[in-house]
Amino acid sequence: MNAPKPTASEPNATDFTAPGRTPRKLHVVTHGCQMNVYDSARMADILRPLGYTTVDAPEGADMVIMNTCHIRERAEEKVFSALGRLRVMKEAQGGNMMIAVTGCVAQAEGEVLAKRAPYVDLVVGPQSYYRLPELIAAAHRKQGVVIDTEFPVDQKFDHLPDVAAPQGVVSYLSIQEGCDKFCSFCVVPYTRGAEASRPALSVLAEARRMVALGAREIALLGQNVNAYHGEGPDGAAWGLPRLLAEMAEIDGLERLRYTTSHPNDMSDELILAHRDNPKLLPFLHLPVQSGSDRILRAMNRKHDADHFRRMVDRLRAARADIAFSSDFIVGHPGETESDFQDTMRLVRETGFALAYSFTYSPRPGTPAAGLPQLADDVKTARLHELQAELRRQQDAFNAATVGLTTPVLFTGRGRYEGQIAGRSLWLQPVVVENPAELTGQIGTVKITRTNTNSIVGVLLTKEQIAA
Ligand code: SAM
Ligand code: SF4
Repeated sequence: MNAPKPTASEPNATDFTAPGRTPRKLHVVTHGCQMNVYDSARMADILRPLGYTTVDAPEGADMVIMNTCHIRERAEEKVFSALGRLRVMKEAQGGNMMIAVTGCVAQAEGEVLAKRAPYVDLVVGPQSYYRLPELIAAAHRKQGVVIDTEFPVDQKFDHLPDVAAPQGVVSYLSIQEGCDKFCSFCVVPYTRGAEASRPALSVLAEARRMVALGAREIALLGQNVNAYHGEGPDGAAWGLPRLLAEMAEIDGLERLRYTTSHPNDMSDELILAHRDNPKLLPFLHLPVQSGSDRILRAMNRKHDADHFRRMVDRLRAARADIAFSSDFIVGHPGETESDFQDTMRLVRETGFALAYSFTYSPRPGTPAAGLPQLADDVKTARLHELQAELRRQQDAFNAATVGLTTPVLFTGRGRYEGQIAGRSLWLQPVVVENPAELTGQIGTVKITRTNTNSIVGVLLTKEQIAA
């Protein structure tokens, strides 16, 4: 069901929230990936001109947006229990709290959500955020839940306003959305729709604005970011390497990265960009999911384990200090112990600086969800074995950086007095004792030791660097 459109006899939908109205408080809760973090910020940007300012807590808010993720287990249940808490608050405020559910759960469960949680005012899929002002106005006029989960013909990217609020030293920029790959386990093609890339000039303009607002590192985002093919100013499609090369020309932008990539879209040019683009970090998130050819086939990944190994070798040949992170799913339907050991072998051979690993969770409507499932205890035991190895590799990677002198981008104060915090070239959290304010600057740091979740270093002076 679509939201009712304003008619000639009704007041203009956006008048309700017109600029100059009493300031309104907006609280946004974000679940899931960086793309949702980006979308949440853009929704706040869209609503700011209408008088909404963001607040840190839902209590007293005029509007709460719950931006949801549908990727893994119990996503819906988590959303419903959080909504139950919001309902109590809404009632305590005499009903004066508009509740909106956005993101992939909204897209996948629109009608169910409206039935199970009728106190929700708005259910909005990821393609329709730009319509929020008119949907809010419609929700004020209408009894019942307003739902907009259409996949419009024109793209979301065509409608987003300019970035308004600074994101910080590290900023995220969405350049591609959706996916046509249909992996057996994944809801993204159903919740985010077909793959679409944002025009290159629009990306570059947003990147420049971000830098003007203080960004020093930009992470380009997309569900399959390395499949990027945005229209260039010449009308031809630009690939990611070309876009990265143009971004590297932006003054004041020091570091670039991109996530998430598919191994099949690592083109020769993109591999060479890791050698030739001076601003591209030596760090790549390249999800492989499994090391078993049989399971990769069942997952519809359309490559085998050796393809991933070759990509890693070629990237290391292009940039010797590159570090990898990845995603793994254990317990996909049909996975035997021998398949799982193939994954362990691939992990041991590759060596990861970081990794995310999950037990397979059936997502309704996806092909693998209809297959016979593995027992939970088998999945959990495999996950523990895999995570122990990944943790060991992460610790080994961090330990190997002790003694290195490396640039660190400072992002803010550390947790303790007198500390500053930043990120190494390999995205490790780095802590340095230093009373000076260096946020946004890159310092040369000698790594001295590792902690459980960070590394510790000393900031070198110009004389020490020169010596
Ligand atoms: N596009 C990326 C790729 O091709 O690998 C992945 C994007 S997906 C949004 C993020 C990660 O969530 C996946 O890499 C996968 O490991 C995990 N994931 C997705 N569906 C899952 C499921 N049904 N069960 C467990 N993990 C899942
Ligand atoms: Fe999901 Fe990534 Fe597969 Fe697309 S390529 S279906 S986003 S896991």
